[in-house]
Amino acid sequence: MTTPATLVKYPPGQDVVSKETNSNVHALFCPREGCRSKVLTPGSASLLTLEKEQLPKEMASASGKVWVVHEVMAFYNIGVSKPLPNPNPTQARYLACADCDHGPLGWHDPSVKDEQGRLLWIIPVERVRYQEEA
Ligand SMILES: [Zn+2]
Repeated sequence: MTTPATLVKYPPGQDVVSKETNSNVHALFCPREGCRSKVLTPGSASLLTLEKEQLPKEMASASGKVWVVHEVMAFYNIGVSKPLPNPNPTQARYLACADCDHGPLGWHDPSVKDEQGRLLWIIPVERVRYQEEA
């Protein structure tokens, strides 16, 4: 029997982002106490810093820092809502825990792309838990 790894809130005790790759050092998990659903494996998301206006108001983030992937398949496990009801001209969707439905953890707005024309699936750093290294 191994003890399950400890999941901690942001910020964990060590840097969350790799200086070499700008990707996540930790595995990222559902924030709900008692749920251990893994959202992203280490190295699968990039860190971006957004301006306050770029965050939906229910996604307010003190740091403005977000984890970003460019396709939904990059998630280890995630739930995606139907497009939000009108008025929602952008067809934005929310992301939730695939196991317990806790959310929203993040969002996806198909009308927003980065400079390379890639889609963005976004999770603020404060909205997931982190698995600390043993
Ligand atoms: Zn969950």
